[in-house]
Amino acid sequence: MTSPAGRRPYRRVLLKISGESFCREGESGISMQELSSVAEQIRDVVQDGVQLAIVCGGGNILRGKQFAEVSRTIVPSTAHYMGMLATVINGLALQDALESAGVQTRLQSAIRMEGVAEPFIRRRCLRHLEKNRVVILAAGTGSPFVTTDTAAALRARELDAEVVLKGTKVDGVYSDDPVRNPHAIRYSEISFRDVLGQNLQVMDAQAMHHCMEHDIDIIVFDYKRVGNIARVIAGERIGTRVTRDPSSVEQA
Ligand code: UDP
Repeated sequence: MTSPAGRRPYRRVLLKISGESFCREGESGISMQELSSVAEQIRDVVQDGVQLAIVCGGGNILRGKQFAEVSRTIVPSTAHYMGMLATVINGLALQDALESAGVQTRLQSAIRMEGVAEPFIRRRCLRHLEKNRVVILAAGTGSPFVTTDTAAALRARELDAEVVLKGTKVDGVYSDDPVRNPHAIRYSEISFRDVLGQNLQVMDAQAMHHCMEHDIDIIVFDYKRVGNIARVIAGERIGTRVTRDPSSVEQA
């Protein structure tokens, strides 16, 4: 792969895709059409030899905190376990979408359920990546009260991923909500401290702190735009890079 804008291409990446990516805008559940288009993009990058681990969210089905708030009967920890199981449902759907696009995959779960997924075992996961299999990491961290953003940050460190790619439906990090504020500006690079200090919505704070502490860059980008996953992995400057020492706090 070449890097048209100077940043070197990545060899091992952790892609975080939220539950909302599994369904159409404004809907819930799973749309295999949405997944198929992401799967085709992923097939193209894997053919280029990049090692790809994917952490999937579960918000299209259930978010633990919200569910616990509306339910009087479900205790919070149960609601979070339900959220983790939702990510396994998504993981299974993503696995079939990828396999039908011709991508070799393995699904690993942080909660043991041998009938549907391998357990997450770091060394085994690394071997799969080295064999160019896409590894889908489901069930978050396996522990309640955190989000899959945190799972993505932790797994990135554990697997020595060079970067966390945070796929979203917006094309980067803005100074304000670009839908409500037409004057909001988009950053091409920004520091962890500024994201945390300004409370910009990139990933949850726990995940941000982890990436900051371990010097793992996060790139926020619109991954549904066809070709963007390949572009970001090739080192093209799209989206917003959150990093420890930005070369400049540029506006895009
Ligand atoms: N979750 C959890 N522990 C984890 C990861 C996730 O308890 O390590 C639960 C949590 O309740 C969360 C739900 O799983 O709300 C679904 O994940 P998330 O909300 O991060 O999905 P996304 O917003 O990415 O769709």
